[in-house]
Amino acid sequence: MFDYLIVGAGFAGSVLAERLAAAENKKVLLIDKRNHIGGNAYDHYDNEGILIHKYGPHIFHTNSQEVFNYLSKFTEWRHYQHKVLADLDGQQVPVPINLTTINTLYNLNLSSNELEGFFAGKAEDVKQVRTSEDVVVKAVGRDLYNKFFKGYTQKQWDLDPSELDASVTARVPTRTNKDDRYFTDTYQSMPLNGYTKMFENMLNHPNIKIMLNTDYHEITDDIAFNKMIFTGPVDEYFDYCYGKLPYRSINFKFETLDKEQFQRTGTVNYPNDYAFTRITEFKYLTGQKHHKTSLVYEFPTANGDPYYPIPRPENAELYKKYKALADQSDTYFVGRLATYKYYNMDQVVAQALSMYKKIKAEITIKPMH
Ligand code: FAD
Ligand code: UDP
Repeated sequence: MFDYLIVGAGFAGSVLAERLAAAENKKVLLIDKRNHIGGNAYDHYDNEGILIHKYGPHIFHTNSQEVFNYLSKFTEWRHYQHKVLADLDGQQVPVPINLTTINTLYNLNLSSNELEGFFAGKAEDVKQVRTSEDVVVKAVGRDLYNKFFKGYTQKQWDLDPSELDASVTARVPTRTNKDDRYFTDTYQSMPLNGYTKMFENMLNHPNIKIMLNTDYHEITDDIAFNKMIFTGPVDEYFDYCYGKLPYRSINFKFETLDKEQFQRTGTVNYPNDYAFTRITEFKYLTGQKHHKTSLVYEFPTANGDPYYPIPRPENAELYKKYKALADQSDTYFVGRLATYKYYNMDQVVAQALSMYKKIKAEITIKPMH
């Protein structure tokens, strides 16, 4: 008899397994239909011995001290600040758009103050910012929007930015200084020995049993458990009773080159050329020294594993219906797929830690045994 059956061994499921097992002494069965733990953050060594991320580049960053301290119990860190260039108009310039980007692109020599005026002169007057187009044209105007955002977003989502919530392109700020880091969070670090090692440490507890290659449908009738925590797609859990929630997927193409370095930064975006959106060179992220280098190209697609919830009004409406079912259910729903939120890793950890606190309060009020 398990106290909890946890479906999905990514961040959401693993944090809850760890907390309930280690802090509450509960017996947990953690299952995943894949053949590994770690969910989409899983990393492993490729044939050449280079550490790669199976589901695309994962860069850890957070402003939450609680999240950082919590994960620090399971890993040491390597300080890493991610940088991205956009390949357009025959050159490579920093993203987010900053002072260097504009001076390089237009062959100017503006100061930060002058750049503010430059943007003000280009910005469109948008009364109410609703869409991913609104956010960008209001900040930098149409020309930069067309160069950096329109084509990339069309490839990534198969939608025009005007069809997506503002929150999507709002992930990428605009800067008037020369700061060329992709993120400005307080904590920016990669697990020193990789994500999978961190998950192994998290889940190494006698109260946690792990079962891989197992879809939860295969075992729910045969295994006794008190409560379920579900971190897979919420529409799947309810047998798609209101129809499928749209998710965007990606085909990852990996390549190893017989040279030490391929590109100038960890990631290079290709907003307007090619079918892929970006190329990431893993050694920048991991700090690994190797005479060869491994890359991943991301080709967005409609079919495949559900990676990205698609933030737009009609999907939010559909999710609301599933959320109403989830709220009435005995099962707990946590994570990017189960709550249909375009969350980064740290946000999922924060969500799982607050779910743990909620469950802990319930246990205290109404003990299970
Ligand atoms: P997941 O990691 O998806 O885990 C859910 C698990 O449930 C999966 O392992 C799945 O196999 C399992 N599962 C589903 N259905 C079933 C079932 N029926 N039975 C059994 N098991 C099931 N975040 C960042 O912070 N920084 C980044 O740089 C970053 N880059 C990203 C790049 C890409 C290409 C993608 C797709 C995501 C990226 N993210 C990044 C987001 C990050 O991957 C997620 O926030 C995080 O991994 C979500 O954790 P989770 O536990 O909610 O879901
Ligand atoms: N985006 C873009 N051009 C870029 C970078 C980002 O149009 O050069 C848009 C695109 O819609 C993308 C979104 O901003 O999906 C969020 O970018 P982010 O890099 O955060 O995406 P993720 O790493 O989550 O795939």
